[in-house]
Amino acid sequence: MKELIGLSFDALTQELIAMGEKPFRAKQLWHWIYNKGETDFSKMTTLAKPFQAKLAGLYTVTHPKIVTEQTSVDRTRKWLVEFQDGKQVECVYIPEADRGAVCISTQVGCAQGCRFCHTGTQKMMRNLTAGEIVGQFMTARDSYGEWPTPTDETRYLSNIVVMGMGEPLYNFDHLKTALRILMDGDGIAISKRKITVSTAGMADHIPELADLGVKLAVSLHAPNDDIRNQIMPINRKFPLKTLIEACKEYQRRSERRQFITMEYVMLKGINDQPEHARELMELVKGLEVKFNLIPFHYWDGAPFEPSSNNAIHRFSKILEENWFAAPIRRSRGEDIMAACGQLKSAKGNIDKG
Ligand code: SAH
Ligand code: SF4
Repeated sequence: MKELIGLSFDALTQELIAMGEKPFRAKQLWHWIYNKGETDFSKMTTLAKPFQAKLAGLYTVTHPKIVTEQTSVDRTRKWLVEFQDGKQVECVYIPEADRGAVCISTQVGCAQGCRFCHTGTQKMMRNLTAGEIVGQFMTARDSYGEWPTPTDETRYLSNIVVMGMGEPLYNFDHLKTALRILMDGDGIAISKRKITVSTAGMADHIPELADLGVKLAVSLHAPNDDIRNQIMPINRKFPLKTLIEACKEYQRRSERRQFITMEYVMLKGINDQPEHARELMELVKGLEVKFNLIPFHYWDGAPFEPSSNNAIHRFSKILEENWFAAPIRRSRGEDIMAACGQLKSAKGNIDKG
């Protein structure tokens, strides 16, 4: 049985043509799957009964299974979801007053090994398929009963941040297919302006994000190569000069010079001094950026400590005095270990070989 979620619209059309169906049926089926969130062919009432039966004999429509669901005192919700092969990832919903972002994963584990990141300590198991990336958002909608796709103004699950487990740009083909499905106006319909992809700095693919029209967040975390090499191994392959050049190219290619969010995790005594803030401003010269200062979330055995509140505020103030936006990210869902860098996969690190 072949899974339909994750096939591009063209690929779905090809499947139907191969079955001897008219291509326009793809539009109806697409609407059932992605606008209504229906997984049972027999409930797709606008499709003829024999067609439903034929589909059921060949295909499945599966949303990843929820293994556990936890809701924080601040209403942040975290799911451990499981795919067909038993691999699991975490996925988080972060609510604001009248909207909210679903944070999705792109890999089981992560190969980048950033030293401050809990996910980075886990072995990289595999890339997620396009269907598994899209499926996490669909499962989140299931949990909130947000089907069929609500109009833009009324939906709670309004934004997507690709900031869960894994490095999205090392799974770029699947990511692209998934984003195109998520953005499709006849289906899930999350507009490109409401999607942000976060990368540790895989410079080769950064400019292409501008062609997709999605927003870019870069896990910068250091003002120079010396510090960045110590905390992020990816910097040896894509040093800051290459990374900043890729960011410039993204901005040249994006409509209206889309600003870039520079994420900066505050590590005590490592990257949190006033001279680091000044060096950082030099580094991003010529780019339109906003900073996002992230208090470090400690996990057991982590080789760093969080910067003091004073150090974080002092750092933010230096940037803001120089006309940079530099808010300090409010931590969400800490009581359920849903905050940045705390995600893990319960089964992901058991090698089933
Ligand atoms: N792999 C991508 C996206 C996932 S990580 C990337 O690295 O950008 C999402 C964000 O959380 C990144 O900015 C990451 O650097 C940050 N992060 C990781 N571990 C953290 C921790 N322990 N405390 C705070 N932020 C952390
Ligand atoms: Fe991977 Fe991002 Fe964690 Fe680095 S910060 S180990 S790239 S998930």
